[in-house]
Amino acid sequence: MRGNRLAILGSGPAGYTAAIYAARSGVQTTVFSGRTPGGMLTWTDIVENYPGFADGIEGIELMMSMQAQAEKFGAVSEFDAVSSIEFGNNSSPHKITLSGGTELEFDAVILAMGSEPRKLGIPSEERLRGRGVSSCATCDGAFFKGVPIVVAGGGDSAMEEANYLTRFASEVHIVHRRETFRASEHLVNRAKSNSKIKIHTNFTVKDILGDSHVEGVLLESVSDQSTMTIPCRGFFCAFGHIPNTALVRGKLELDAEGYLKVAYPGTHTAIPGVFGAGDCTDPIYRQAVTAAATGCKAAMDAIRYLENA
Ligand code: NAP
Repeated sequence: MRGNRLAILGSGPAGYTAAIYAARSGVQTTVFSGRTPGGMLTWTDIVENYPGFADGIEGIELMMSMQAQAEKFGAVSEFDAVSSIEFGNNSSPHKITLSGGTELEFDAVILAMGSEPRKLGIPSEERLRGRGVSSCATCDGAFFKGVPIVVAGGGDSAMEEANYLTRFASEVHIVHRRETFRASEHLVNRAKSNSKIKIHTNFTVKDILGDSHVEGVLLESVSDQSTMTIPCRGFFCAFGHIPNTALVRGKLELDAEGYLKVAYPGTHTAIPGVFGAGDCTDPIYRQAVTAAATGCKAAMDAIRYLENA
């Protein structure tokens, strides 16, 4: 006989949407927040594309509201990181160990640990995040109408984001550290033939300039270390994403990039009672609303699993 205890790892839109659905169905639900309670949306200033908020909503307000909604239905939030997880077989509970060593058992688990954008790793990137620095063109491109933008990276994301950003920006500069691109040829060619896009190869980004908002980007030549500044109001770092799946590496199937594989259109993993949702399963869309949608699906799958004892 299965119990009724569900652990949700991750407190972004996927985790808290799963918690809302599960707790409201009477499942005993615990959300483990991880190191960033509320997830990546809490880094975002204003969210303009989450349905239902015609005037936009601050990322942190949206997440606190999701948390309150889940807790209203009885979900418990644990502001702690899970340091290890041992999955049981079909009839056994799954054992979770917290960072302080506490061990807890659950009958079902939803993995919604998200992903993190790769960063430049310089202080000005964090200081100006949400003030012109972004890692998501779909989320933030519309804030940069009629102004220059710099996109760093040479992969498919950099090409696609640069192309998308030409809808808004006066001009888009792609900065890449090498001569050749990792991106597919047709995306590079599309960028090269777009009159609003200028490409700077063999340059690294040394600094993002500006006090209260982005005013420019300082580049350094890889070949002779000379520097140049590109004035801009937006800086998009398109260095790819790292899914937060280290916890389950070797225990569940991951794709070549480390994203957790689930049995689309469901959210089941190969282990009964273990489900995946949100950006840690999604190499493509990575939006708050898509994460929330898969959180809903994972909760419905988990509720059904717990019912069918
Ligand atoms: P990616 O392919 O890993 O490319 C990341 C880019 O960022 C690379 O050009 C890399 O430079 C650069 N980079 C990383 N760290 C850097 C650093 N510290 N300093 C300077 N440059 C750095 O990531 P992605 O473009 O997000 O794509 C991820 C996956 O999604 C890929 O499989 C891609 O094909 C797929 N995708 C597909 C599409 C599409 O088909 N339409 C769209 C988006 C993404 P180097 O090249 O020098 O390593």
